[in-house]
Amino acid sequence: GDEELIEDAGDTDEDEAPVNRAVGVIAVVGRPNVGKSTLVNRILGRRAAVVEDTPGVTRDRVSYDAEWAGTDFKLVDTGGWEADVEGIDSAIASQAQIAVGLSDAVILVVDGSVGLTSSDSRIVSMLRAAGKPVTVAVNKVDTGEQEYLTAEFWKLGLGEPFGISAMHGRGVGDLLDDALAKLKKADKTSGLLTPSTLRRVALIGRPNVGKSSLLNQLAHEERAVVDDYAGTTRDPVDEVIKLDGEDWLFIDTAGIKRRLHKISGAEYYSSLRTQAAIERAELALVLFDVSQPISDQDLKVMSQAVDAGRAIVLVFNKWDLQDEFSRQRLERLWETEFSRVRWAQRVNLSAKTGWHTNRLPQAMRQALESWDKRISTGKLNAFLGQLQAAHPHPLRGGKQPRILFATQAGTRPPRFVIFATGFLDHGYRRFIERSLRDEFGFEGSPIQISVKVRE
Ligand code: GDP
Ligand code: GDP
Repeated sequence: GDEELIEDAGDTDEDEAPVNRAVGVIAVVGRPNVGKSTLVNRILGRRAAVVEDTPGVTRDRVSYDAEWAGTDFKLVDTGGWEADVEGIDSAIASQAQIAVGLSDAVILVVDGSVGLTSSDSRIVSMLRAAGKPVTVAVNKVDTGEQEYLTAEFWKLGLGEPFGISAMHGRGVGDLLDDALAKLKKADKTSGLLTPSTLRRVALIGRPNVGKSSLLNQLAHEERAVVDDYAGTTRDPVDEVIKLDGEDWLFIDTAGIKRRLHKISGAEYYSSLRTQAAIERAELALVLFDVSQPISDQDLKVMSQAVDAGRAIVLVFNKWDLQDEFSRQRLERLWETEFSRVRWAQRVNLSAKTGWHTNRLPQAMRQALESWDKRISTGKLNAFLGQLQAAHPHPLRGGKQPRILFATQAGTRPPRFVIFATGFLDHGYRRFIERSLRDEFGFEGSPIQISVKVRE
């Protein structure tokens, strides 16, 4: 009904200060099919549905704002991270490792209908090493008669296993009480909550595009590249670099320097790492190597940042290797593969020689300014009113969906909610987005538009 819609639209505090109210971060880990995603959706409840109706936003997200019994926390979901990898065990381990690195406490989900498996035990050893508090959720205990299924999980040595049914909600409250009690007592080391006034930047791009070269160039120092082989995890290291008189926090520079891609099977791992860095960053510098054809992997990394709602600057690196052929190739791509991010600034530079790296700070500031930008409800509605008068939505089945009212529900990135009398089709939404950009700017930032239909 209307009440709910209005509540959604006015729910702005959450977007203004998502980082500060949460008491900490809980990661939900476990092997595939135990019910992690079902549990996360259960905990998020109505919020999940709200997020999902904004196209392209949820899929690759790592963390969500959650609330239980008046306590706000962040939830790291690893459900979507299961890739088609061969060594599934090591994939689970690295997935869990990253999730744990991002969190202050953990809910380990196991499957009561299957019983204890060796993969479960493997994850537990990893969790022990990380030293984060763990609550064990024995899922698929759908009825009271099945409670006995939890018994064998005492063996994990992690305290009382909670029998739950993520699907039906059974036992989830007690589980959260326990997990939140542990979270409140835990050390808060997760990067997601690091209080910082510095703007947080991630350098991303497929292997060899020049991330570590650019980092070195920006920091004006040569760093040794440490080749590091499987298994040894150190904490991510962030680094403060002064650019053009301003300090910036570069995220997970250790991950860049360690060249994770050189480790076997590491494409999967490095993609998780990228995702984790994006999650912690406000701005992503997306690097491309112009001496090579742009690949699907290049575009995928870029999409990860955009889908996560981060501000971006596109960095076309190795410009010193540029020739007429590659220049034309790139211009063609700009019209096609890059059409989705035509709003982003691009900086052509050479990390090796330092050429044009001085153009980065201005582009970075611009992108973040757009990311933070708020348009007043009055201005927004005046603009959309004119727009609609000049370009009404096409008729559909004799009816014409009309925009009633719009509001900016959040920033970082800007999120708009439009209330309309009917569903606005994709083309019209895109038209609205383009028009908003023409009118208000938003260079360097994605913007999200969701439509609520009012009967
Ligand atoms: P994930 O891979 O760990 O994220 O697992 P999913 O959440 O995708 O769930 C895997 C399967 O288990 C799905 O078919 C779910 O419907 C099922 N499932 C999840 N939770 C429960 C539960 O509480 N009871 C039962 N019986 N099935 C469940
Ligand atoms: P990363 O894997 O993304 O961190 O990439 P690196 O920084 O390790 O760079 C990969 C290779 O590209 C190295 O041999 C670098 O010397 C080279 N490289 C990086 N940037 C440039 C550049 O601007 N011009 C040229 N010619 N080579 C570069």
